[in-house]
Amino acid sequence: MIPYLDLAAQHRALRSELMAAIEGVLNTGQFVQGPPVEVFERAFAPLCSVSHAVAVNSGTSALHLALLALGIGPGDEVITAAHTFLGTAAAIRYTGARPVLVDIDPLRFTMDPAQLECAITAKTAAIIPVHMHGQSVDFDPIAEIAHRHDIPVIEDAAQAHCATYRGKRVGSLGRVACFSFYPTKNLGACGEGGAVVTDDDELAERVRAMRDWGHIETHSRERIGFNYRMESLQGAILSVKVRHLRDWTAARQQVAAVYDRFFAAAGAAGVTTPRPCPDGEHVYHHYVIQVAGRDRVRQGLERRGIGTAIHYPLPVHRQPMFADLGYPPKAFAHADRLTQTAISLPIYPGLNESAIAQVVEAVAHEAAE
Ligand SMILES: *Cc1c(COP(=O)(O)O)cnc(C)c1O
Repeated sequence: MIPYLDLAAQHRALRSELMAAIEGVLNTGQFVQGPPVEVFERAFAPLCSVSHAVAVNSGTSALHLALLALGIGPGDEVITAAHTFLGTAAAIRYTGARPVLVDIDPLRFTMDPAQLECAITAKTAAIIPVHMHGQSVDFDPIAEIAHRHDIPVIEDAAQAHCATYRGKRVGSLGRVACFSFYPTKNLGACGEGGAVVTDDDELAERVRAMRDWGHIETHSRERIGFNYRMESLQGAILSVKVRHLRDWTAARQQVAAVYDRFFAAAGAAGVTTPRPCPDGEHVYHHYVIQVAGRDRVRQGLERRGIGTAIHYPLPVHRQPMFADLGYPPKAFAHADRLTQTAISLPIYPGLNESAIAQVVEAVAHEAAE
C-alpha cells in the first residue's frame, strides 16, 4: 500500500517536540491566540520575506480578511483563475464581490497573464493569482498590468510555502498574500490554520483587528469583525513544524526529481509529467501528471493499493454553487482539460525510491492499457 499522503509518519518523527509544545499550552490554560501564535507569526513572516504575518483559523479566512482589508465589497469584481481550490472564489463571494475568471497557462497551470487584461473592467478591485501545486504564477506580467490599472494583487499562496519567483519568495510579490496550514499543505497544522502576510503596516493592523471582532478595547465598533482567531495549540504545533519546512521542501523536490527520472526511463507513452518553469523554485505541493483515460488509470492505481488525488474534479466555472454567476461553460478550455486529465501522485517527505518506482511502473502499465 502506498498512501497519497502519510502525515502519521511526519508526526512520529516529531513526537517528543510536538508533545512538549502541546503540554506547554495545556499548562498555560490559554487556548486562543497568545504567545504561541505570536511566536509562530514571527517565525513565518521572514520565510515570506515580509514584515508581518497575521495568523488566522484557515486559508479561506485569510483570503476573506485580505479582501475586506482592501475595502472590497458588493459591486466590485475580483479576478482569479478558473483552476484553483474553490475557497479562492468562495472568499471573493463572501465579501459580496463577483469572482471574474481567467483561464490558465496550460504548461504552468496558473493564471495566464496574456488573458488578464481583457478581464479588467472599471469595477475590478483586486487580482488574486494562485500559485498552484507549489509553483509560482508568472508574476511580473501580472504585476505590470495590475500596476498600470492601479489594482492591488493578493497572492493565494496556500499551496506554495517557500516557493520562489525570480529569486523572490512567494508571499512578498503582491500587496498581500494568503497561506493555509490545513493539515495536508506543505506546512500543516494538526487542525485548521492560515495566515495573511504583508509588508503593509496598516493592512496588517486591519487584518489583526478583524480576525478578533475588532479587538479594540471598546464595545462599540464601526466595522463588523469575525472570530477568525488561531488556536494556541495550532500556533505551538506550527512553531515546531516550521523549523522543518526547509528540509521537507527539499525532500519533496527530491521525490519529484526521482519521479521525473523514473518516468523518463520508463518512456511512459501518453503520460505528461510536470514541466516546472526555470524562473523559480517549485515546492511540489502536488506532483500532477496528465494522462488520457484518467479515471480508468486512477482506478487501476487504486486496485494496486496506490493512493492518488484529483486537484480538482471541477473548475470554478462549473461549480454548481456559482451557477448564478453565469460563467460561459466553454470559456476556460485549459482549466477544463486539466480537470479531465490530471492525477496527483503520492508525494511527501519520506516517500522512498522503491515506492516511487512502483507508482511509475503502475502508471506506465495502466496508461498503456
Ligand atoms: C487550501 C487552499 C485554500 C484554503 O485554505 P483552507 O485553510 O482550507 O481554508 C485556498 N486556496 C488554495 C489554492 C488552497 O489550496
